[in-house]
Amino acid sequence: MKKILITAGPTRERIDGVRFISNFSTGVMGYELAKAAVKRGLEVTLISGPTALLPPEGARFVSVEAAREMENAVRRNFKACDCLFMAAAVSDFRPDKEARGKIRKKKALTLRLVENPDILKKITRDKDKRIVAGFALESGNVIKNAQKKLKKKNLDFIVANRLSKEKPPFGAGAADVVIIDRYGEKIRIKNAPKRKIAEGLLDKANSLWERGR
Ligand code: C5P
Repeated sequence: MKKILITAGPTRERIDGVRFISNFSTGVMGYELAKAAVKRGLEVTLISGPTALLPPEGARFVSVEAAREMENAVRRNFKACDCLFMAAAVSDFRPDKEARGKIRKKKALTLRLVENPDILKKITRDKDKRIVAGFALESGNVIKNAQKKLKKKNLDFIVANRLSKEKPPFGAGAADVVIIDRYGEKIRIKNAPKRKIAEGLLDKANSLWERGR
């Protein structure tokens, strides 16, 4: 495993020239992965939505805004990679059209949202020997839902996160995750900073790579 492709951060879907819909993703998980991978001597490309973070030193950095732009960037870089970590929080919907200029103030405004492409699900059709990892932010039965996603998106492993008020999954705080691989093996990482989680994820990718997935 030599070349790592990572996506990070939210996407922004434009409503008009000054407004957008997005989500609370900060990009920390993807950036920590990129830093840890550079430290291991891997060749890293980081495709990032808008965040407040500095591009990690030593990584090739591709800045994108909307989901469809991210999809194009992932497509362009996927062939050359050995492993993809899809850590971005891609917006599931976008306004059906971007209004020109700024929409004027009025009593009510109806937006029609349409579905964005599922980048991960589409890209795994051309996966071959590559290791592909996804992330799942879940409530309810976290493990079961993440396992379903792992199958549906044809992943090698998935990183399951619980959506909880006590421990928000966004940002630099400690988090609890469960790594579930395609063989059903589960690794729990508890109350760990994202830097430590990043190391665990790279170890997992490496061990799957070494056993030929
Ligand atoms: O289905 P869900 O959005 O929960 O799946 C999360 C995983 O799928 C993440 O790895 C995310 O980066 C990826 N995803 C994607 N394209 C979307 C939505 C999610 O690649 N439109």
